[in-house]
Amino acid sequence: MPKASHIWHPFTQMKDWSTDASAATDARLGIERGQGVHLIDTKGRRYIDGVSSLWVNVHGHRHPVIDAGITKQLKKIGHSTLLGLSHQPAEELARRLVAIAPKGLGKVFYSDNGSTAVEIAIKMAYQYWQNTGRPSKRLLVHLNNSYHGDTLGSVSIGGIELFHKVYRGLIFKTHGLKRTGWDVVEEFEQLLKKRHREVAALIVEPLVQGAAGMLVWPAGVLKALRRLCTRYKVFLIADEVATGFGRTGTMFACQQEQVSPDFLCVAKSLTGGYLPLAATLTTKKVYNGFLFDYKDQKTFFHGHTYTGNPLACAAALANLTIFKKERTLARLAPKIKFLAKQLEKFRQLPRVLEVRQCGFMVGIELNGKWEDRVGAKVCQALRGRGVILRPLGNTIVILPPLVISRSELDQLLAAVYQELQA
Ligand SMILES: *Cc1c(COP(=O)(O)O)cnc(C)c1O
Repeated sequence: MPKASHIWHPFTQMKDWSTDASAATDARLGIERGQGVHLIDTKGRRYIDGVSSLWVNVHGHRHPVIDAGITKQLKKIGHSTLLGLSHQPAEELARRLVAIAPKGLGKVFYSDNGSTAVEIAIKMAYQYWQNTGRPSKRLLVHLNNSYHGDTLGSVSIGGIELFHKVYRGLIFKTHGLKRTGWDVVEEFEQLLKKRHREVAALIVEPLVQGAAGMLVWPAGVLKALRRLCTRYKVFLIADEVATGFGRTGTMFACQQEQVSPDFLCVAKSLTGGYLPLAATLTTKKVYNGFLFDYKDQKTFFHGHTYTGNPLACAAALANLTIFKKERTLARLAPKIKFLAKQLEKFRQLPRVLEVRQCGFMVGIELNGKWEDRVGAKVCQALRGRGVILRPLGNTIVILPPLVISRSELDQLLAAVYQELQA
C-alpha cells in the first residue's frame, strides 16, 4: 500500500490512523484476495473473514457459481437502466424474491444500498396515505436504538445517539418508542390508541437490532407488533438489510414468527456479498395506491441511476441458486446450535458482560467505558491470530459467512476466546 493514502474511510476517526501506532496498521492492511471464508492481504497473510466483510458475504469469496453468473452477464451488458426499460436479470430476480419472501409481497422496487431501500419504503408508505385520501397519516414510528442507514431519511428514524445526534437539526420529526423487550408492545399500543390517525408506519429491524450491538428481541414481540399495525391500519416496514438471507437461520427473520410486513427492505447479502444492490418489496395494495392518471401527479417519483444493475442482479440470482443447490439453510441449522454451545463458555469470562445470539449474528459485550475502545483493541489484536472482526463499540461482533465450516468456526471462536482470556 502507498504511504500517503487519499482515502477518507467510513465510520473512522482518521486522526487515529495518523497518530495511533496500532491503529495506523489498519491503514496499512490492504486486502488483495479472498477465498472461501478467508481474506488474504497484500503480504499473503490469511485471515478468517469473521464479520462477512461487514455482514454481506454468504457463500464465501470467489464462489464459482457467483463468479460465473457475473461473468456470463458481463458478456451481454454491464449496465442498462430500469427507468423506462427492463431487462431479464432484474425481471427474473424480482420473480424469485417474491417467491421466497413472506406472503403478500408481490412487487419489487430496486435500489443499490440498504439506506435507500429504507428511504424508499418510508416514502412509499408516506405517499400511499396521501395518494389514497388519508393525508393525516404522516408520522413514522421507530424503536429505541434503531439503525436504518446513514442517509438523512434513514437517520431521521435512527435511534443511536452516538451516530445520530449531530444531525438532529437536519432531519424530520418522528416518534421514537422508548421501551424495549415486551414493554414496547404496550407502549406502541398506547400510542396507536391515541394517535393512529396520524401514524403512517412502524419501522423495525425484526428479531435482532444489529448496529445497536446485536440486541435480540424476546420471541413473539414481532408478531404482536404486526397485530397492532393491522388492527390500527398502520404499515409495518421490516428492515431486513442485516437479517435477510439466512443470518437468523431462516431466509428472512420475519418468517420465524410467520409475519408478513407491508414492506421488506433487503440489501447487504442480496448479492451474496459481491455487488451493491437493494430491493424494497411491497404488497399489491400499496402498488395499487400509486395507479392514477399521469396528470394526477401521484407517481412514485423516485429512482437511482444504477437501480437494478444487471451485473448485481446476476450475482443475486446466483446467490439464490446456491441457497437451493447447497441447501445452505438446512446445513446452517446444526452450525447455529454448535455456535450457541461454544458461546456458553464465553459467559464465564470476567471481561464479558453479556453474550447475545440470534442465528449467525452474535454480539459479545465487554466491560468497560466506550471511550476505552476495548472492542477495537481486541479486534486489532485478533489480526495477529488470523481473524478479521469489526466491533460495535464495546461489543465484539461475530457474523461469519453462512458457508463457514464447523472447524473454521471453531478456529474463529478459539481465537476470540484466547484473546479475551489474555
Ligand atoms: C447496514 C444496514 C442499513 C444500511 O445499509 P447500507 O447499505 O449501509 O446503506 C440499514 N439497515 C440495517 C438494519 C442495516 O444493518
